[in-house]
Amino acid sequence: MFENRINLKSGAEIALMREAGRLNAQTLEAVKAEIRPGVTTGELNEVAESFQRAHGVYSPFKNYDPGNGVPFPGSICTSINEQMVHGIPGNRKLKEGDIISVDCGTVYEGFVGDSAFTVGVGEISAESQRLIDVTKEALEIATSLMVPGNHSGDIGSAIEAHVESHGFFSTHTYTGHGVGREMHESPQLTNYGVPGQGFLLREGMTIAIEPMVLIGTRRTKTLGDQWTVVSVNRKLTAHQENTIAVTKDGPLVLTSL
Ligand code: MG
Ligand code: MG
Repeated sequence: MFENRINLKSGAEIALMREAGRLNAQTLEAVKAEIRPGVTTGELNEVAESFQRAHGVYSPFKNYDPGNGVPFPGSICTSINEQMVHGIPGNRKLKEGDIISVDCGTVYEGFVGDSAFTVGVGEISAESQRLIDVTKEALEIATSLMVPGNHSGDIGSAIEAHVESHGFFSTHTYTGHGVGREMHESPQLTNYGVPGQGFLLREGMTIAIEPMVLIGTRRTKTLGDQWTVVSVNRKLTAHQENTIAVTKDGPLVLTSL
């Protein structure tokens, strides 16, 4: 990860990233189609891995080692209910009424696509649905602001303002990030900010925006598995992510179908 250098992408590089993003969206669609009560998160991981194998791509999540001593064992993150991000797929079965965030990455021709969604399992409560909807809306609002000349603080403050207007909390700990040949590049895009401050958006930037929304607190902690991030009050959380290119023609969502 380059702490200070932002890698601007050429049109040709953005075209490759669009393909990486499309394949990532297709992987997530394949996973989404299998979400139902009784399925395990390990089975969802298998769905992603077999789709990616069949398309000659792979997830940069697998064996990702940030130096916490536990390389990530899955190709996707599966985070259920109070688990906000980085849940490890395994034997846990989804139950009716759960909500689950699935986060995936795809490497295609050396470039990464990174995106995530949260959905309900079967019937969910009205509050759960509202949490998911507000998180999605925050991503949409943020995406619309990804134009040259805006500052990162415009994006972060818009995310937080939308989230707070619905009585929820935006994380101040976890961020979006540059994406390119590496899954995590400079700069970080916080989920809060001050309009007009932060880094300037420029043509050729490719950035993952990822609002993470909580109920009653913004505080989180990491479980003993060294990965799973949960809300400290164990209330529900939601997460939504797309990788976006800043272009002279406006925001280009790289991780759409
Ligand atoms: Mg992600
Ligand atoms: Mg990301």
